[in-house]
Amino acid sequence: MAESRIVIENCAVATVDAHDTEHPHGHVVVAGRVIESVGAGPAPTGLAGVVRRIDGTGHLVTPGLVNTHHHFYQWLTRGLATDHHLFDWLVALYPTWARIDEPMVRAAAEGSLAMMARGGVTTAADHHYIHPRGSGDLTGAIVGAARDLGVRLTLARGSMDRGESDGGLPPDFAVETLDAALTATEEAVRRHHDPSFAAMTQIAVAPCSPFSVSTELMRESAALARRTGVRLHTHGSETVEEERYCRELFGMGPTDYFAATDWLGPDVWMAHCIHMGEADIAAFARTGTGVAHCPSSNARIAAGIAPVTELLAAGVPVGLGVDGTASNEAGELRTELRNALLVNRLGPHREAALTVRRALRLGTRGGARVLGRADAIGSLEPGKLADLVLWRLDTLAHASIADPVAALVLGAPAPVTLSLVDGRPVVEDGRLVTVDEDAIARTTRAEARRLAALAGRD
Ligand SMILES: [Zn+2]
Repeated sequence: MAESRIVIENCAVATVDAHDTEHPHGHVVVAGRVIESVGAGPAPTGLAGVVRRIDGTGHLVTPGLVNTHHHFYQWLTRGLATDHHLFDWLVALYPTWARIDEPMVRAAAEGSLAMMARGGVTTAADHHYIHPRGSGDLTGAIVGAARDLGVRLTLARGSMDRGESDGGLPPDFAVETLDAALTATEEAVRRHHDPSFAAMTQIAVAPCSPFSVSTELMRESAALARRTGVRLHTHGSETVEEERYCRELFGMGPTDYFAATDWLGPDVWMAHCIHMGEADIAAFARTGTGVAHCPSSNARIAAGIAPVTELLAAGVPVGLGVDGTASNEAGELRTELRNALLVNRLGPHREAALTVRRALRLGTRGGARVLGRADAIGSLEPGKLADLVLWRLDTLAHASIADPVAALVLGAPAPVTLSLVDGRPVVEDGRLVTVDEDAIARTTRAEARRLAALAGRD
């Protein structure tokens, strides 16, 4: 059977290719799961098998947004500990987080993914590091939620083995032993990781942070990832307290500790990377280690401002992240494009620190590179997977903004007329079409209440 085609035309096109090619009036043709052509003017004539032709007048089409850091389970604990810094915030929330189970994680993953997808995310990374004893198949719950929504997923299978009795922050029953964490992580890779070009699900190895896991787990995790050919992810250099903690515990700062445990390389990406000196940035650039920049979360818990301009100037791969919704209740990536630009301009004469096009690039192509998917997603180019978003820019919020990319990045969150993942519609006219959004809202509310009751918070 001939491949079915979707034609989108009469819209502005921001390809986010290597040259940032844009077309004020252009087209995109999707054939099956891949992009067949992108260019100026109307689509080529005489195409066979066109099942849908979309008039994109008043719209901008971009690559789908790529979220590089999140904690889906936190969808059930939004609006708590709203005025705390990182360590106090963790201590306040761990007793609740430690009670999560499989139905809660399934509901939270659906809520997190639905919110992101409705706002133009087509690939999402989830860093899930809490596996309380007897909580069920949390990995399967997250993978299943992404599959049902139709969003591409990188699940960073997290772990912690430093509980309260070892000087860590989480309660002991919420952490795993070294062996259990490694065995379950390898099992997740074996069951769910798809190394192929068009993979919908990939797994990464992801101990929570240097201060919640043993040095042995860091080292063994790096070895496991390299042996199985998957990526490595963790939190790094988020707060000044973390820096101090690392120096006390290991006699060195976070970047040196990562180097010592084999955690710098082109197959590694880290969330935050705020407190980075010149030598740290140089080490990341030299090794190709990637960064997930999460500006809203960093501001919400007053962690600081990541030196994104300097990281980019040094050649470090940088993407954007929502981070968990316990520190970013909005749970959207389209607003992170704006916040990344604004936060990085804070300070005198920083007006060129991040441009609107650079912000869009971070949220698309940059994120794809950080997740190791640059060959398949992140830009609109023939042969790449058909993950794209058609943003509506002709209504009150955006109609008088001259430049469509500026409208998307600096304007109010733009409505999504159509979002395709792997060539399949996930959003139509602002609503999810793969799942029932209202049912997800009801379930997440019920599961959030059940969690609060279990944790003794109601
Ligand atoms: Zn995080």
